[in-house]
Order: sequence, then C-alpha cells, then structure tokens
Amino acid sequence: MIEVHDLSKRYGDQTAVDHLTFTVRPGLVTGFLGPNGAGKSTTMRLILGLDRPNSGTATIGGVAYHALREPLRKVGALLEARAVHTGRSAYNHLLCLAQSQGLPRGRVSEVLALVGLTEVARKRAGGFSLGMGQRLGIAAALLGDPQVLILDEPVNGLDPEGVLWIRNLMKALAASGKTIFVSSHLMSEMAQTADHLVVIGRGRLIADESVEAVIARSSGQSVLVRTPQPAQLAKELERANGPDTTPVTVTTAADGALMVQGMTAPEIGEKASAARVVLHELTPQRASLEEAFMELTRESVEYHAAQDLTAAPGPATTGSPSPSPTVQDAPPSAGSEAAE
Ligand code: ADP
Repeated sequence: MIEVHDLSKRYGDQTAVDHLTFTVRPGLVTGFLGPNGAGKSTTMRLILGLDRPNSGTATIGGVAYHALREPLRKVGALLEARAVHTGRSAYNHLLCLAQSQGLPRGRVSEVLALVGLTEVARKRAGGFSLGMGQRLGIAAALLGDPQVLILDEPVNGLDPEGVLWIRNLMKALAASGKTIFVSSHLMSEMAQTADHLVVIGRGRLIADESVEAVIARSSGQSVLVRTPQPAQLAKELERANGPDTTPVTVTTAADGALMVQGMTAPEIGEKASAARVVLHELTPQRASLEEAFMELTRESVEYHAAQDLTAAPGPATTGSPSPSPTVQDAPPSAGSEAAE
C-alpha cells in the first residue's frame, strides 16, 4: 500500500505537486494519469525518496522510503528507460544490484526468465533495444520480489508486443496481490490496464476512482433516442431547461435519431411517457474514455498550453522531458521522447 498525504513540491515558483492525497491499494493496477507536466514523475520520485517534499508525506507500507529496511524487497521502481551501465551484460547488471542488496544470486536468472531476456543475458545491456532495456529495467525492479511496484510511463516508445507484455505482466502481478502504481499520459493505455485511476492535472488531484466511475462522471454522456415523434419529444425535453438545471441539448442525427445530452435515459423515458411520446429506442452512449479524460484535465492542459506560449525559448533547465501542451493518443512509438 502506498499512502500519499497532503504532498506538495515546488521548484522555484513552479508548483509541481500541489497538496496531493491518495492511496494505492494492493491487488489492483492503479493508473496514475495526467497530461505531460502534471506532476506524475515528481510524485513518484517523492514516494521513492529521490526528492524532498515541501510538505506532506508519502509512505510505502506505512514507512517512508528512506526508512525502509532492504528497500528492494519492499518496492521496485522503473523510472527511466536505459538507466543501465552500458558496458555490463544484463546478467552482470542484475547481479551487481542483487549483491548490493543481499539478494540471492539465483534470483537473477529467475527475473531474467520472467521478463524473457534469458537468451540475451550475457549480451551488453548498452546494445539493447528500447524494449529490451525496458524489460531489463523491470527485471531490476522485480529482483527483490517487492510487494509494491512503481512504473513511470513504462510503455513509452515500446512496440505493440512490448506494450502487451507489460500490460499482462502488471495485471498478473496485481492478481497475485501486489500493489502496482503505473503512470501514463494516455487514457486509452490506462483503460486497458488499470482497475483504478488517480488523475492529476497541474499537480492537483482531479479524480481518484475506478475507470468506470471516471466515465460515468463525464458530463459528455449522451443518450440516443429513436421515436416516431422526434420534434414533439425534443420540445418536451428542452422545456426542462432552466437557469439552475444541467442544460439539456437535443440534436438530430442524419438518420433521424435524437442525441440528448444533459439527461439520463430514465429521465428521458419518463418525460416521453408523461408526454405520451412513443419510444422505439433509448440507449445511453458511453462517453469514450478519451473524452472523459480530456474533460477531466482540460483546465490543466490549457494552463500548460498558455504557459508554453509565454515560455522563453532556450535550453531546458529541468532535465525533465519537455512538457507537451497537448494530450494526444498517439501510438507509443510516435508519442514519446523515449522513442528512437
Ligand atoms: P509529468 O511526469 O506528469 O509529466 P513532472 O513531474 O515531470 O510531470 O513535472 C511536473 C512539473 O514540474 C513540470 O512543470 C516540470 O517542468 C516541473 N519539474 C519537474 N522536475 C523539475 C526539476 N527538477 N526542476 C524544476 N522543475 C521541475
């Protein structure tokens, strides 16, 4: 279990993490979602004790990272691809890590097999492709068979096979009772992997709930209605509009069906019944996950877009990947600074 309480981190006058509170539970894949620059990496670094918060706490199993005994046995992390001694073989890289933490040598072969690198274990890690490097990073994270796994954008730059592999691994580890906390700026990726979402924007918590709940909360939901009396129904539904109510909008599709926004299917059914309008179909349309995410994070994305416009050109001073003002669902190989 990871517990983050009132966590804040500022860099100069920039607030990267702003009073964040959330809990990451065992047995689930928890997606940590937000546009680029939202503060995900910073939060993960704070959890891992790699940076000091300005306020608040982050604990793993109730203990701050720096106070953990044998940390590799408690938490594994993948923060950056290719943080590997390039001259060493994959086997030796893992062996050094294992020995530094008092882990048995036999564990090295086990994790190499688990991530599918047995055949290239004696090859120089520096010559690995990005996908193999990610596998090696995950092998390192798994060395101590930790209860908690923290992965920062693990699918960035991977080919579809690699993406699928990481997804399935995370699900299997969660099913075995581990705590999996994985960040992404892509809702579609999280939708296929995560059970639960912690969504942030501008360092602040936007949502902490199941994927389903995020969709349900999206006001972009609409209901498809078919009726032989479309004009009459549209009039009835729009009559419900008032200054203090959610605005109801009715649009007519090319095939004559009505799309209603701002009302649930039961509400529409009752209005139709009261007005003696016959309904042939009444189908709630699920807002796409991407729409739900865009809506949740719109404000924070606009903030960054505005910031980027005013930012002076010049060398980056943060050393972090350049924040992008857009949230886009590009294929992993096209959307990442890690792509080669
Ligand atoms: P994300 O992982 O969601 O893309 P980050 O945590 O990397 O976001 O960054 C959050 C914000 O904090 C960004 O505006 C970023 O530029 C800033 N930031 C991150 N690390 C540093 C740093 N070491 N120094 C200054 N600013 C930083």
